[in-house]
Amino acid sequence: MSPFVRFRHSIRHGLWLVAGVSVASNLLVLALPLYSLQIFDRVLLSHSVDTLWVLTFAVCVALLASVLLEGLRGQVLLRVSNRLAVSFERRLFDEILARASRLADRSMQPLRDLSVVRNFVTAPQGVVALADAPFALFYLLLVYWINLWLGHAMLVGMVVLLVLAWATDRFVAPHTRAAAESAQEAQRRLEGLTLGADAVAAHGIGAAAWRHWQEAQRPGLIDAAQAGAVAGSLASLAKGVRLLLNVALTGMGAYLAVSDQLTLGAMIAANIITGRALAPLEQVIGAARQWVVGRGAHARLEELLRSEPAPDGMQLPPMRGLLELERVIFMPPGSDKPTLKGITLRVEPGRFLGVIGPSAAGKSTLTRLITAVWAPRSGAVRVDGAEVQAWNREDFGRACGYLPQDVQLLGGSVRDNICRFSGADDAAVTAAAQHADAHEMIVRLKDSYNTRVGPGGVALSAGQRQRIGLARALFGEPRLIVLDEPNSNLDTEGEQALAASLARARERGATLVVVSHRPSLLVHADLIALLVDGELKDFGPRAEVLQRLQPALPQVVSRKSNVA
Ligand code: ADP
Repeated sequence: MSPFVRFRHSIRHGLWLVAGVSVASNLLVLALPLYSLQIFDRVLLSHSVDTLWVLTFAVCVALLASVLLEGLRGQVLLRVSNRLAVSFERRLFDEILARASRLADRSMQPLRDLSVVRNFVTAPQGVVALADAPFALFYLLLVYWINLWLGHAMLVGMVVLLVLAWATDRFVAPHTRAAAESAQEAQRRLEGLTLGADAVAAHGIGAAAWRHWQEAQRPGLIDAAQAGAVAGSLASLAKGVRLLLNVALTGMGAYLAVSDQLTLGAMIAANIITGRALAPLEQVIGAARQWVVGRGAHARLEELLRSEPAPDGMQLPPMRGLLELERVIFMPPGSDKPTLKGITLRVEPGRFLGVIGPSAAGKSTLTRLITAVWAPRSGAVRVDGAEVQAWNREDFGRACGYLPQDVQLLGGSVRDNICRFSGADDAAVTAAAQHADAHEMIVRLKDSYNTRVGPGGVALSAGQRQRIGLARALFGEPRLIVLDEPNSNLDTEGEQALAASLARARERGATLVVVSHRPSLLVHADLIALLVDGELKDFGPRAEVLQRLQPALPQVVSRKSNVA
C-alpha cells in the first residue's frame, strides 16, 4: 500500500465527517427556498405576521447551523491539510536532497506539489466543491418535483456547465502542463547561470545568457497566457450560462405562474435551488487552472510516494573501519554505461588507501559509493561486513568523515558546519578545526566560529571552504575518512598540515581513503588503487603498485594524474 493510500485510509474518519457535514449543510440550505415558498404562498396571502416571525426565526436558525457546519468542514479540511504536511514533508525533503545528490536535480518540485495539494484540500474550489457537487443531482430532482419544465431547463444548464468543465480540462490542461515544464527548465537554466555567474561576467555574455534563459522561459509564458485565456473564456461562458439559466428560470417561472401552473413561492424557490446547485460547478470551471495544477501535483506525489522509503538501517556495533568492495558496478541514473566496472578491493581497519587515475576515471564516484551517498547497481560496498546502505544512516554518518571534491558549505555558522549541526561543545569543534589546520583561518573571520557561511553568508575562498570541509570530515574522530582531492586548493603549508592530520587519524586507527592527484599526500599511503575508465587497473601495496606503474607513469601523469 502506498503511503498516500495509507494516508487516505488514516484520515477516513475525517473524510466521513466532511461527507456527513456536507449532507447536513446542503439539506439545511434548503431552508431558504422553503422559506420563500412559505412567505410568498402562505404569509402574503394569510397576512399572518406571527407565522412570518416563526418562519424567519426558523430559517435563521437553519442557515446559522448550515454556516456553522460549513465552518466545521473547513476546520476538518484544514487539519487534513496540516496532517498532509506532517506526514509527507520529511519524506519529500529527503527525496529532494537525494535527487540533488543523485541526479544533480535541485528542483523543489515535490514540496511545491505538496503545498498545491494542501491548498486544494482547503480552497473553496477544491475538495469543498467536490463534496458539494453531487448534491446538484438532488437539487435537480427537487426542481423537477416543483415543475417539469423548470427541471428540464435546469438539466440543460447543468449539461452545458458539465460540458464546459470537460472542455476546460481538455483544453487548459495541456497548456498548463507545458507552462509548468518550461518554468522548470527556465529555473534550471537560471540556477546554472547563477552558479556560473563569474564566467558569465568575465566573458561578457550577459546578453547571451539572458537569451539562453528566455528561450526556456518564453514558451512557458505563452502557454500560461493561453491557458489563462482559454480558462478565462470558458469561465465567462459558464457565468453567462448561469445568468441565462437564471433568466430562463425566472421567465419560465413567471409564465407558468401567470398561467396558474406554478405559485410565485415555488418559482422563487426553484431559482434559489438552481443557483445553489450550479455554484460548485461554476467554481470548478472558474478555477480550472488550479484544478489542473492540483491534479498534476497530486499525480506526481502519488508516483513519488509509491516507492517505500528506505527502512531505517541496522543498529551495528561501533565501526572498526574494515572496507570491502565486491564486484561493484555503478551506472549513473538514466545511463546504461557503467562508470565503475566491477571493482573489488579490501582495506583493513586503520590502513590508508590512495586512489589515483586520470580524470573521469570514476574516483569521485567511488568515494560516493563508499560513503553510501550513492548505491551500486550491483555488487556490494561493505564496512565491517555490512553493506553501507544497510547501516543506520546516523550511526554511519557519525563514524564517517567525507570531504567532497567541490566543497559547498551548508547555510549556517562555521561551527554548525563543522559539528554537522549537532550542537557539539566548543572543544570538539576547535579540535576538529585544529586538526584540519583551519583554526587560525577561522578565528580571523569576522565572527570567528559564528561567522555565517554557505548561501547568504560571507564568501569564502575555495581553499577556506576546503579547510572547513576537512574540519567537518575530521569532526568526532571518525573511523572511516574519505577525502576527494583534499589538497586541490591547499598551499604547501596547508598540504603539510593535512598530511600531519592524516597521519594522526591513522595513528588512532582510522581507515583512510584519499583521492589525490598530487604525490605529496600519498607518500603515507599503505595501498594504492589505480582507476582507469571505471576499471581497477591496479591495486596493492603502494611500493609494488608504483613499481609496476613506472613504465606507464608518464602516460598516467599526462592524463592529469600524479603519483609519488
Ligand atoms: P573522477 O573523479 O575520476 O574524475 P567521476 O567519478 O567524477 O570521475 O566521474 C566518472 C564518470 O561518471 C564520468 O564519466 C562522469 O561523466 C560520470 N558522472 C559523474 N557524476 C555523475 C552524475 N551525477 N550523473 C551522471 N554521471 C556522472
